[in-house]
Amino acid sequence: MSKTKGQELAEQLLFTQPHVADEAPEALEKAQEFCEDYKAFLDEAKTEREAVKAGVKRLEAAGYRPFDRLAKEAYKPGDKVYYNNRGKALIAATIGTRPVQDGVSLMIAHIDSPRLDLKPNPLYEDTDLALFKTHYYGGIRKYQWGVTPLSLHGVVVKTNGETVEIHVGEEENDPVFCVTDLLPHLAADQSKRTLNEGLKGEELNIIVGSLPFEDKEVKNRVKLRIMQILNERYGITERDFVRAEIEAVPAAKARDVGFDRSLVGGYGHDDRVCGYTALRAEIDCDTPAYTSVCILADKEEVGSDGTAGLASDFTFHFLKYLADIQGANYTMMLQNSKCLSADVNAAVDPTFPEVSEKNNSSYLNRGVCVTKYTGARGKGGTNDADAEMVAYVTGILDEAGVLWQTGELGKVDQGGGGTVAKFVSQREVDTIDIGVPVLSMHSPFELVSKLDVYMTYRAFAAFKSSSKER
Ligand code: MN
Ligand code: MN
Repeated sequence: MSKTKGQELAEQLLFTQPHVADEAPEALEKAQEFCEDYKAFLDEAKTEREAVKAGVKRLEAAGYRPFDRLAKEAYKPGDKVYYNNRGKALIAATIGTRPVQDGVSLMIAHIDSPRLDLKPNPLYEDTDLALFKTHYYGGIRKYQWGVTPLSLHGVVVKTNGETVEIHVGEEENDPVFCVTDLLPHLAADQSKRTLNEGLKGEELNIIVGSLPFEDKEVKNRVKLRIMQILNERYGITERDFVRAEIEAVPAAKARDVGFDRSLVGGYGHDDRVCGYTALRAEIDCDTPAYTSVCILADKEEVGSDGTAGLASDFTFHFLKYLADIQGANYTMMLQNSKCLSADVNAAVDPTFPEVSEKNNSSYLNRGVCVTKYTGARGKGGTNDADAEMVAYVTGILDEAGVLWQTGELGKVDQGGGGTVAKFVSQREVDTIDIGVPVLSMHSPFELVSKLDVYMTYRAFAAFKSSSKER
């Protein structure tokens, strides 16, 4: 049957966002396969420190060598280097054929996720129970963190300089920990609280033990017994907690979700899903035209401050060293660079459609989401990418057959958020946000679609290998 004039015109002039499974059915199997190692990475990398370790392991296996900041000889096209920033952020680069003065292809994701951090004096005893006080990190909905099994990850730096690693609650036979909540029978008052205060910050106390030390002559016998166990296992005393960074995170493993196994549920998709896909694209990048630089940063969830966050100069120090080693003009290098700020976006949730504007939001399974601007209250605090930059990046994606969509972070007056994009564009580097749509973002069990994860990897790979003129 021939098309009507109206049908023909609609086909030419109007746009409907396709489902990736319809448009690229060959991606289904590849996406399943791609996400097997992604799930392993999520389980291996539940904190920023563990993500750096998992990253370095993969980089070294792929032939990357530690970056020599004072290298006497210029790096050659195809050389692969990495820089480990304090064990909490990571930079990996592949030298391109063009001089770095022509610009680099930057890709930045963050590897920290919302969680409960232990306070500097965490351990106390109350009602014959031993507990840890916590201070939540990043934007959590506090009520989601009660009555769910937690594991503890982190380091203690002892006075003798030795660093002890804590990693408990992940193995099948490990104990886990948890925050309590009230029974419904006695929650009459608590139930009248707003959801924001369902569990309050000072109620996020983690149970770590309940048996007393045998000597009845001492006080706080349960606390003492826990400290005795910690001392035997890690050689630490109570005072050492002030020299520690210990994070409580969901103990559950990443799992396939749905009868069709199309989704991955797990802790920390934001933003290890972009961190992992960016790192894979970096590793798989053969000698590019423009030097490719992949950054996995810490501290995004608390505003990017600190030495391992994007508000610090660590990224730009690296680029300056790279310019100096190659005898290039650093300022011109920045001006000619392009950056993908790789971070997740909020997918439309059919149970809560009222917070999204349906024509300008991302959906699961419709591909990687390109976000022109973020921000809140009238684009406040955003990097609003130029139309030219949107055209540059989406042109690369279209050419590579990568399926992409666009979406804002919810309705205009509903809230909003930001990314690291502004810290890069303030150095006059063209930057745009791009990443995976997520459901239940910042919760202990976030959801992403495998097709979107795979398309995000393909987008990053296309960007890195592009030789498009700038
Ligand atoms: Mn994020
Ligand atoms: Mn986030």
